[in-house]
Amino acid sequence: MSNNMDKQSYIDEAEKELLHTYNRFSLVLDHGEGVHLYDTDGNAYLDFAAGIAVCALGYSNEHHKEALKAQVDKLLHTSNLYYNAPVIEAADKVLNASKMDRIFFTNSGTEAIEGAIKAAKKYAFTRDGHAGHEIIAMNHSFHGRSIGALSVTGNAHYQEPFEPLMPGVKFADFNDLESVKAQVTDKTCAIIMETIQGEGGIYPAKKEFIEGVRALCDEKDILLILDEIQCGMGRSGEMFAWQNYDVKPDIMTCAKALGCGVPVGAFLMTQRVADKSLAPGDHGTTYGGNPFVGAAVSAVFDEFKRLDIVSHVKEVAPYLEKRLDELVAKFDCLTARRGMGLMQGVECSLPVGKVSAETLNQGLIVITAGSNVLRFVPPLVIEKSDVDEMIEKLETTLVILSKSL
Ligand SMILES: *Cc1c(COP(=O)(O)O)cnc(C)c1O
Repeated sequence: MSNNMDKQSYIDEAEKELLHTYNRFSLVLDHGEGVHLYDTDGNAYLDFAAGIAVCALGYSNEHHKEALKAQVDKLLHTSNLYYNAPVIEAADKVLNASKMDRIFFTNSGTEAIEGAIKAAKKYAFTRDGHAGHEIIAMNHSFHGRSIGALSVTGNAHYQEPFEPLMPGVKFADFNDLESVKAQVTDKTCAIIMETIQGEGGIYPAKKEFIEGVRALCDEKDILLILDEIQCGMGRSGEMFAWQNYDVKPDIMTCAKALGCGVPVGAFLMTQRVADKSLAPGDHGTTYGGNPFVGAAVSAVFDEFKRLDIVSHVKEVAPYLEKRLDELVAKFDCLTARRGMGLMQGVECSLPVGKVSAETLNQGLIVITAGSNVLRFVPPLVIEKSDVDEMIEKLETTLVILSKSL
């Protein structure tokens, strides 16, 4: 394989080699700088997707890069049979920001969900002296593709070919407290939900709902698991989205922006849960929390602090909301906006896949959520001028598509 093939040759080769689990956009990305990505032909794209809410610091952040390079020169991996300093430092920073007490590092969001499910089941097992507990999950949720995570993902289309899945999962409607209460039995050990539903179409939890679920959990000693994999890490305008409400989870998951491109996730819990939960022999991982990802997480938290990312999101997000609202008012094909912070969705009656593809021709990357939502999850370092440029490019796209479709 030559080093500078043209775009179509790369795509043809990829389609021969890679398992066809994605219908990819015809874009071969080469490098990134700030909030821009560049393809192998040298075209620039303003990025409002951040690798699906991962690259919170944008691309090629100097401090992040230097920390990774330094750790590469020192030590990449040790296994969890030994201690390592970078992950201890990383743990301290995540626990400090979340006010949780215990953390387990994983290699992905999906694995964080697996761990959270096991942690909840083990807690109930210790408390009750027997297994056989149930979990309540939400319709239109997304928690990952492994069998456990898929079992709590409220999407029949994703689940159907892989049944039977993990038993003991019941589904309720997000933002409908009564529907959750209706699924509670004396076997319920946990309620799992995203604080802001992402893949399902960008739905923030309503205050009465999430606080009502918290009260229900308190009353019945049910564990509240909040999935912060997409909405966490400053995106909502608080470090973790649940910090926008008067609630705290018993278990939470984190991933995506946690390593800003280095694959790492985590599940966290309070000491009260940890006391009855996973013990030696119950759970493990070979890679999880190795020195390399420890250095990455640590550097991400340092940069978040240095750049005061959370305040920056609070400043830029209202401007993004305002500009999106103006666009919704202007175009008949756009019908509603919702979201929190720099996690926004706009309902669109044009085929959203076509809109996403056409924005690429305008030098803009925007992704979709669900079947009819344009999703805006940019790097958290975007400026108001980037928002203006995005709106301009999206407007051009919509004008072109409204004429041609
Ligand atoms: C992306 C995502 C996951 C799965 O994370 P992976 O790193 O892809 O395994 C789980 N939950 C939510 C809310 C997500 O957005």
